Amino acid sequence: MSTFQAPKGTYDLIPPESAKYLAVREAIAAPLKNSGYGYIETPGFENVELFSRGVGESTDIVSKEMYAFETKGGTKLALRPEGTASVLRAALQANLHKLGNLPVKLWYSGSYYRYERPQKGRYRHFSQVGAEAIGTEDPALDAELIILADQAYRTLGLSQFRILLNSLGDKECRPVYRDALQGFLRGLELDEDTRRRVEINPLRVLDDKRAVVQKQLVGAPLLRDYLCDACKAYHEEVRELLTAAGVAYQDDEKLVRGLDYYTRTTFEFVHDGLGSQSAVGGGGRYDGLSEMIGGPALPSVGWALGVDRTVLALEAEGIELELPATTSVFAVPLGEEARRVLFGLVTELRRAGVATDFSYGGKGLKGAMKSANRSGARYALVAGERDLAEGVVQLKDMQSGEQSPVALDAVLDAVRERLA
Ligand code: AMP
Repeated sequence: MSTFQAPKGTYDLIPPESAKYLAVREAIAAPLKNSGYGYIETPGFENVELFSRGVGESTDIVSKEMYAFETKGGTKLALRPEGTASVLRAALQANLHKLGNLPVKLWYSGSYYRYERPQKGRYRHFSQVGAEAIGTEDPALDAELIILADQAYRTLGLSQFRILLNSLGDKECRPVYRDALQGFLRGLELDEDTRRRVEINPLRVLDDKRAVVQKQLVGAPLLRDYLCDACKAYHEEVRELLTAAGVAYQDDEKLVRGLDYYTRTTFEFVHDGLGSQSAVGGGGRYDGLSEMIGGPALPSVGWALGVDRTVLALEAEGIELELPATTSVFAVPLGEEARRVLFGLVTELRRAGVATDFSYGGKGLKGAMKSANRSGARYALVAGERDLAEGVVQLKDMQSGEQSPVALDAVLDAVRERLA
């Protein structure tokens, strides 16, 4: 072991498990690529203010969990705690919204950082795949995103997840509700921290998981009863489109999510096999975010799905993904000349797209065959001096143990035929 270990709250992805993470990312991205979303990549860190203004100064993400630092040049940066603010910043910077083709649909995949108390499913470095549809107000777009996330989870074979859905209203009706809620909350017995939250961000109090708080929230005014007609109609349309698409959801009037920028549609995907960190993904509409970070009015909607928790959800449901074989053919040279000849064949097979590996380090037959076995290869190519003198290599089926000589110039065809 080295003197060093992965920092607290982080873990390394190593083979063979790492292949699952790649497969999950691919499965989440596939429906997006198929629906007009283009790939975007932004830096791992941004100006800290992008997040404090966008995500919200009073949120846990910004006030407690952000890795913020000052560079030697005096610039205040933060490791990105989430993807939406950066993607919108990049879209505005590149003027994508001015190209006359709204919505701008983007997807991304990457690492995010939050200084949280680590536990199963909650890490300080985690990975998300996300999607944003920027610049259009249309309930079909909200529905599209939820349908695509549902499709991604279903193709992975997941079934024990639920979709929670809510509307947070807009700049017309939410302030009225906020006042009403604040009035109600001020009358409760709350600790000092929570009382402060009532003043800064009362909606977040609804999200408090503690029983002492939840108990008192019975009878709290619900946003549903305060939605303006436009928000109500919009939300109804999203619900109808989801139902028509056969996507089941649950209305959850208390779903507020931990980021300030959400308006109207908000949703969360929760998985029932994950214990306390049950949210596998979430998102919503953020019609005001662009203006909050200095851009024009650009109503938008998006989500991010957590890759780490999706892998945990697969494990909880006992799902084994069918992963492509990493190695189809493994070459075992016996002696110097065979080493050169087989190395040449390996290169030829690889160039032809056959997943091939080679026994390095001058191992003997026994050791080399052990490596061939471990590689999971379906076939081994074995050659010694006598084979080469006859112009052949032995093609061995690792499952049946059968072995037959194949002429050197016919190896590629023989391998292809058998793998087909
Ligand atoms: P959020 O932006 O907080 O809704 O996060 C979206 C998704 O990212 C969550 O549903 C999780 O799957 C994942 N996620 C957020 N924070 C963490 C974390 N600390 N560790 C692992 N996954 C996380």
